[in-house]
Amino acid sequence: MSDSKYTIKQIGEHSYAIDGINKNSIYLSIHAHKAFVIDTGMVDEPLLPVLEAITDKPIECVLTHAHVDHMDHAEAFKQVYVGAKDKQAWKWKLRVFSVVGSFALQGKVRCHPVSRYTSLYEGDILTSGKSGLKVVELPGHTPGSLVLIDESDRIVYTGDSFGKPVWLWILGAQSVEIYQQNIRHALKVLAPYADYTYHGGHTMHTDWNYPDTQDTHLSYQTLIDMDRLCSDILEQRIEPEKTTVMGFPLENFENEGAGILTMKHKIYE
Ligand SMILES: [Zn+2]
Repeated sequence: MSDSKYTIKQIGEHSYAIDGINKNSIYLSIHAHKAFVIDTGMVDEPLLPVLEAITDKPIECVLTHAHVDHMDHAEAFKQVYVGAKDKQAWKWKLRVFSVVGSFALQGKVRCHPVSRYTSLYEGDILTSGKSGLKVVELPGHTPGSLVLIDESDRIVYTGDSFGKPVWLWILGAQSVEIYQQNIRHALKVLAPYADYTYHGGHTMHTDWNYPDTQDTHLSYQTLIDMDRLCSDILEQRIEPEKTTVMGFPLENFENEGAGILTMKHKIYE
C-alpha cells in the first residue's frame, strides 16, 4: 500500500482517518455489525478496497454534505446517506456547483446520483449494535451540512460545516446572518460533547500547523469563536482581508479560532 494515494491513521479504538493525497479527509467508523465511511474524498484511486483492508464488516456511506470533493466514490457503496436539505438543494444549486467543481478539480464533469441517496435529518441515529452515529444539522456551507457524533469513540465529525475558514461564498451557501443562528443551535446541541475530539473535512488543508494528520485544530471552542466572529461581522466590528479565489473577489474574516470566507452581498439575509 506504500504507493497508495491514501494515508491511514487510527484516531480512536474503532475509528480511522483516511486522508486523500489532495487533502480531502475520509473517516471510517467501525461498529458491531457494520461500518460507516464518512465522506469519500476525491482521489483518483478506488476507496472501497482501502476500507476493506481495514474492516471486513459491510460498509455504509454517510456524506457530511453534497460537494464533489466529499463524495467522489459514494457510488461504490450500496447504502449512501446525505442531509435531506442537500438532497433538496441538489435540484439546482448544489448540482450546478458540483458540475462546475468536478470540472475545475478533475477536468471532467461528474454527475452524482444524489437524488437517489437516503435523507438524514437532525436527531437521526445510524446504529449498529449499541453504538452508531448521531446526526446534527449545521447548515451554512451547504443547506444540509451534517455533523456526526460517535459517542463510543468520543469523536465529532464536522465535514466543512465550520472551521478556519468556512466557505460561505459559494453557490448554495447561506448568509452570515442565518449561519450564526445555526451555529448557536449547534452550540446548544453539541454542549454535552464539548470535550470530544473534532475532525473536519480537510484536516491536512486546514491544519497547516499540524503536519501529523491525527492532530486537529477543530474543537467546541471553534464554534464559540465562530459565534463571536459572526457577531463581529454583522455588527461591523471587524475588517475583512480582501482576497481572490478562482477569480472571485472575496472577504476573509478571522479571529483566533474561526474564519469565514464570504462575499459582501452574502453577509446579511
Ligand atoms: Zn464543501
